[in-house]
Amino acid sequence: MLLENKVVIVTGAASPRGIGKATARVLAANGARVVILDLREEDAVAAARDLGEGHLGLACNVTRKEDCLVAVEGVLQKYGRVDGLINNAGITQPLRVMDIAAENFDAVVDVNLRGSLYMSQAVIPHMKKQSSGSIVCMSSVSAQRGGGIFGGPHYSAAKAGVLGLARAMARELGGDNVRVNSITPGLIQTDITGDKLTPEMRAEIIKGIPLNRLGNAEDVANACLYLISDLSSYLTGVTLDVNGGMLIH
Ligand code: NAD
Repeated sequence: MLLENKVVIVTGAASPRGIGKATARVLAANGARVVILDLREEDAVAAARDLGEGHLGLACNVTRKEDCLVAVEGVLQKYGRVDGLINNAGITQPLRVMDIAAENFDAVVDVNLRGSLYMSQAVIPHMKKQSSGSIVCMSSVSAQRGGGIFGGPHYSAAKAGVLGLARAMARELGGDNVRVNSITPGLIQTDITGDKLTPEMRAEIIKGIPLNRLGNAEDVANACLYLISDLSSYLTGVTLDVNGGMLIH
């Protein structure tokens, strides 16, 4: 199997219909030991249990450095190694530029961008010691086209920051055989958009998607599998669009 004996952490993976949970399922089906991190311990534990035997669920708020370090310590205690990290935890807010208050900016930048930095910092020393590792950062088409559908400008900025962070980490860590790549999903049907998508909006959006449908969490999960596994052994610093052709550039 592609991920036999590999230990992979997925942040924000307890949301039942989310990209993180779907990714955890795909990684587990390909032989990985999966560690699910999310805000509430009971959600993370239950999500890990859903995957079957041998996986781990831990509470971790990725905006807190201490939480990230403690979580990775727990992973090392249980498995003795960490091979992959998927920086998936994210939040969005549908605000217009003049409505973004300081607390909105902080909340969105903290989870999406600061959280990706803190979690990466928690695993990098161990990946360097192993001389191998793969980190995937979840950005968004919103970073590339200046807004997706539901994210405000602060979300676009945070997700564009994620791309810069990932590329810079890729350059710095290549010599240690630690690869860092990003995924930019288009509109994926998960709970992040809640019930905000009306049938009219959906039809209008689909007109702009060459593959003629919205994305589902498994579409992104399969891209994560590719980037985490050795199938992508000569890729680092790339941005992989998973958007049905919504943005061809
Ligand atoms: P989701 O809301 O279903 O899942 C997000 C998860 O992150 C939740 O489980 C939540 O509890 C967790 N989380 C939030 N704050 C956290 C924190 N501080 N620490 C740890 N966990 C935290 O959303 P989703 O649609 O599955 O999104 C997953 C990722 O994909 C996000 O980064 C999102 O920005 C990105 N994305 C989603 C879409 C889309 O259309 N759904 C498009 C582009 C990018």
